[in-house]
Amino acid sequence: MTVVAAKRVVSIHYTLENPEGETIDASDPGDPLRYLHGAGNIVPGLERELEGKKVGDELEVVVKPADGYGEASGPGPQGLPRAAFEGVEPAAGMSFVAEDDDGNQIQLWVLDADEETVVVSAEHPLAGVTLHFSVKIEDVRDATEEEVAHGHVH
Ligand code: ZN
Repeated sequence: MTVVAAKRVVSIHYTLENPEGETIDASDPGDPLRYLHGAGNIVPGLERELEGKKVGDELEVVVKPADGYGEASGPGPQGLPRAAFEGVEPAAGMSFVAEDDDGNQIQLWVLDADEETVVVSAEHPLAGVTLHFSVKIEDVRDATEEEVAHGHVH
């Protein structure tokens, strides 16, 4: 029996709900999420609970922010002039890497965008949110050497 373990590619069907019971995200019914276990491809709290599970297992996993997308602690959302976004069409849900005033690379998420202003946050939109996952494991296989070297599924 092949169980979920490091250096294996795991296919899961999942639904992600927030604490209010609203669905935030879900895998496509015909197209499960495939990830490389042990490589940090998914949030730590979910990866840990999947360890050792097998094909067909179904589980409900509650992930606290610290084991998910982090606590919400930063400066919060910030509006930038749309003119600052040359060559891209910013839209809610996008994420990109930008340079701050000190030349450090930071990841930004777009929360909202209109003709004039783009609202961005340096925190993942799900920072501070307790995540409720429903997961079913559809497949587990050994990763190729190349996948292990790259740290992701091909
Ligand atoms: Zn690769």
